[in-house]
Amino acid sequence: MANGRFAPSPSARLHLGNLRTALLAWLFARSTESRFLLRIEDLDPASSRMEHAEAALADFAALGLDHDGVVMWQSERREHHDLALAGLVATGETYPCFCSRKEILADAEAAARAPHAPAFAYVGTCRDLSSGQRAEREAAGRRPTLRVRGEGRRYGFVDAVVGEFEGEIDDFVIRRSDGVPAYNLAVVVDDYAQGVGQVVRGDDLLDTTPRQLFLSELLGLLPPTYAHVPLVLDASGERLAKRHGAVTLADQQTLGRTPADVLSLFAVSLGLADSGEPVRVADLVERFDPASVPRMPWTMPASVIVVQ
Ligand code: GLU
Repeated sequence: MANGRFAPSPSARLHLGNLRTALLAWLFARSTESRFLLRIEDLDPASSRMEHAEAALADFAALGLDHDGVVMWQSERREHHDLALAGLVATGETYPCFCSRKEILADAEAAARAPHAPAFAYVGTCRDLSSGQRAEREAAGRRPTLRVRGEGRRYGFVDAVVGEFEGEIDDFVIRRSDGVPAYNLAVVVDDYAQGVGQVVRGDDLLDTTPRQLFLSELLGLLPPTYAHVPLVLDASGERLAKRHGAVTLADQQTLGRTPADVLSLFAVSLGLADSGEPVRVADLVERFDPASVPRMPWTMPASVIVVQ
């Protein structure tokens, strides 16, 4: 039994792909009688909207995905993130980086042309600046990000769905130039604080996991285990997105499909129900086997999301 969780970013209404991942996270937890926790990742004030967070919670409830304890709001956790950042600075494994986004992309593109270089990894321009060089850049008004020295270490783990996975760690950002803690830092600190033992999330985040394992180690925190589940694609093979049509639960309701209909659709896509069979989440818990989670993305039938 390991606490599970789902941690949406309220930058838009959740779409059916996000909701199917939430269902899977809930099923992984409930099928082992584990607690299921929610966290709203609203760290970025520029993109987070309260109405999206509230709609996400309402969507979970409508699908029957209950949760334990109070919802954690990441924006309220700043002092904990700052403490972890201070701890990392004290290890001597961090440095301020004054590069602009444009410079980083140009450097990374050049470096990626070298054999075996990971695409878009930070090349380390600010890694060894002298204190004089740092002062010069600060005096010019540049606000630095904070990076941690990954130095190309490799971290591997065994994912419950993907199997063995290994990735290289570049010097990645742990605090943005506006002072907001970066996702990789906050997710590690908050998963630990919530006692999360198993992270189930979309496989678009698989690449971030070696970085998170590295940060857990630097902070002396026991990391969770991971299950990265395949995403949902539209009929043309693109990752599901708002522009593809009726992709939210609310859109589906306007088309006359109830949350129960959407749940049945998800269940069919996971091999947990026959087409058209009405199901309740409790039935799905009985039928769910983590070992049988499909390894391939699910292509959403065009008839579901295209508005005629
Ligand atoms: N908040 C992230 C997202 O919505 C997910 C974070 C995670 O599950 O680790 O993409």
